[in-house]
Amino acid sequence: MNVLVCGGAGYIGSACTEYLLDHGHSVTVFDSLVTGYRDAVDERAEFVLGDLADREKVFEVMKNGKFDAIMHFAAASLVGESMVNPGKYFHNNVCNGLNLVDAAVEYGVLNIVFSSTAATFGEPDEMPIKETTTQCPINPYGESKLCFEKILHWYNKVHGLKYAALRYFNAAGATGKFGENHNPETHLIPIILQVAAGTREHIMIYGDDYDTPDGSCVRDYIHILDLAQAHMLALDAPESGHYNLGTGNGLSVKEIIEAAREVTGHPIPAIIEPRRAGDPAFLIADSTRARKVLGWEPKYENATAVIESAWKWRCENPNGYAK
Ligand code: UDP
Repeated sequence: MNVLVCGGAGYIGSACTEYLLDHGHSVTVFDSLVTGYRDAVDERAEFVLGDLADREKVFEVMKNGKFDAIMHFAAASLVGESMVNPGKYFHNNVCNGLNLVDAAVEYGVLNIVFSSTAATFGEPDEMPIKETTTQCPINPYGESKLCFEKILHWYNKVHGLKYAALRYFNAAGATGKFGENHNPETHLIPIILQVAAGTREHIMIYGDDYDTPDGSCVRDYIHILDLAQAHMLALDAPESGHYNLGTGNGLSVKEIIEAAREVTGHPIPAIIEPRRAGDPAFLIADSTRARKVLGWEPKYENATAVIESAWKWRCENPNGYAK
């Protein structure tokens, strides 16, 4: 297929672009480079610099591209920031996304794979989380992604836009070429690896008084190559749907730190800090539907392998994408 990848210079978008190209698809990356990096765009992809806020530009790219499908990764994605600046999340993730789906409908590109998130569930009433679990976000980031899921539902009903909303749990790890490099970095695994690499003194554990086995938050860490596989399979999904993507294994912040100590051989000092606003205690996926309907077969079942891939990328790219 000829695929338009919005946000293909970001962490997950870059891995999916590489994966699509490795599997014989053509890719045009559309990215503002506000948080992404030009060097994170696979050299085999076409690159268009642009922002989804620029409706005219989005329509022009869609008109000229002759795309078969769209993958939409471009978004603001930090829970903590969304609790301070919710407007940024609704503008970026809802209003700007509308420009994309309006252009898709206008030019008949009626197949979209959307980056959604476990944050749409909030503090769910069942664990692991199924697609049918009630969605009640507890932060603006999750709410903005849920809004866009609903927009896709109505664009499907009214305009026949087929969609797959992929709800990632905690994306982690690196491919051979591309890895995680946010600035500033707020995510657990890359921050831990900064400590192991000596660029940060300690990791802060945000809360050890949650109602979890060791008191720290439990998450389901899923390798970006497994996410990439799900995106490619979702292009051929028979009908619109939602899929939760995780391993089904929950690991606490403390367990991740311990696994990183083993992988890196570094003591990784940790200190306990107050809870971070907007963090649920547990997020673990039930991904049965993705396995059954999409034929998804995640390859990375344990966190050590995920952290190893991230550590390898970090050692090979100590400054990330900075020249
Ligand atoms: N976390 C932490 N210290 C950090 C960064 C994150 O304790 O320096 C915790 C955070 O509170 C959450 C988990 O690690 O429980 C994963 O956070 P991350 O920001 O990586 O992903 P999120 O779950 O917010 O998408």
